[in-house]
Amino acid sequence: MSGSALKPPPLTNDCFALPSGVAWTPVAEAHALLQSRLSVIAGVETLPIGQAHGRVLAAPVKAMRSNPPQPNSAVDGYAVLGAEYGAGNHVVPLVSGRSAAGQPYKGSVPKTHAVRVLTGATMPNGADTVILQEDVTLGGGEISFRGPLKVGSNARKAGEDVSAGDIILDSGRQITPADMALLAAAAVQEVSVRKPLRVAVISTGDELAEAGGDAEPDQIYDANRPMLLSMLARFGYQPIDMGRVPDNRDTLQKALDQAALQADVILTSGGASAGDEDHVSALLSETGSLALWRMAVKPGRPLALAIWKDTPVFGLPGNPVAAMVCALVFARPAMALLAGQGWQMPEGLMLPAAFSKRKKAGRREYLRARLRDGQVEVFASEGSGRVSGLSWAEGLVELPDEAMEVSEGTPVRYYPYSEFGL
Ligand code: AMP
Ligand code: MG
Repeated sequence: MSGSALKPPPLTNDCFALPSGVAWTPVAEAHALLQSRLSVIAGVETLPIGQAHGRVLAAPVKAMRSNPPQPNSAVDGYAVLGAEYGAGNHVVPLVSGRSAAGQPYKGSVPKTHAVRVLTGATMPNGADTVILQEDVTLGGGEISFRGPLKVGSNARKAGEDVSAGDIILDSGRQITPADMALLAAAAVQEVSVRKPLRVAVISTGDELAEAGGDAEPDQIYDANRPMLLSMLARFGYQPIDMGRVPDNRDTLQKALDQAALQADVILTSGGASAGDEDHVSALLSETGSLALWRMAVKPGRPLALAIWKDTPVFGLPGNPVAAMVCALVFARPAMALLAGQGWQMPEGLMLPAAFSKRKKAGRREYLRARLRDGQVEVFASEGSGRVSGLSWAEGLVELPDEAMEVSEGTPVRYYPYSEFGL
């Protein structure tokens, strides 16, 4: 199917429209709108589990086999029928042979006998309990130990971990390394997964020079594109590098056309405000689908949302700090929905502040932050061009829409970058 021009049904052209009369969109409202208007667009394919790590499940996964498949020993020791041995000392003859992992004891253990077993070995027929080898003395083909035994001790029951037929992973889950262990243990051979969301990234601005190349004195390096492309790779999506475009409407239009052909989603940065050189918002407004969301958020503000040739576009701010915060706070949960992961909000931790700040009411604020000695410290400057602060930080502090007076020790909400999938 790859290479086909066939696409899932397009999103409607007005899917980003704001209720009339809205001036500033609170973050929660923006989230609610995105959540209600977007739906999964990523296609589905079946993969062998060896290729499924990082993919998003398109259907719940059932265990094809119980784990463990048969009762087995949890320790090295001696297997017996536990109910035979009450309080007191016991001397019990050993049968010859043993049960080792993958090399089971073939016979059946007679009632008042014991057999040598090793960790992971299938429990021999006639035995249900294992005596730890440290708890016996061995000699003359016999073992001696103290009772009473607890029936079933040191043995694992068949299916005690997973039962065949159980739902072990839900649809929408992105397969983790731990899930790989579970899928293997439950004998799953292939899974139905979403195709990775293809996300095109375009930087805009006459001032931008290519990272790693040369720059004129009045140029700055394009920092947003390397940041966004690597972020998308972390999310498990397929980043598509569409390069830089100057502040020129025709060039931008061609880049958007190309991006819409190749990608499921387009991320642009820069040019999203309403200024003379803000060609992203100007061009997108021609489609009639543009909603310039003035987010009540710092850093950030203008976020241009539109549908370009059936493809959703997130027009991120140009300032790198605002671009990254808007990508994490708005584009990420929206892309997760499109990718089949469902709406995803980070889980914050309430932790004491190591800083003080007086915040006015009216917009939500995200500060570059990190955790040291159990306290949250923030980057010294709030300037949204400070790329060094993004890199210094290991997460974000979220201050609520309302006014807030933070002093040292005030609990604040901290999100480690990992909560945003980084
Ligand atoms: P704009 O949103 O285009 O007005 O850009 C806002 C600020 O962000 C300006 O100072 C731009 O030079 C800067 N900027 C825009 N795009 C990038 C980029 N890709 N990398 C680094 N800085 C950028
Ligand atoms: Mg610009």
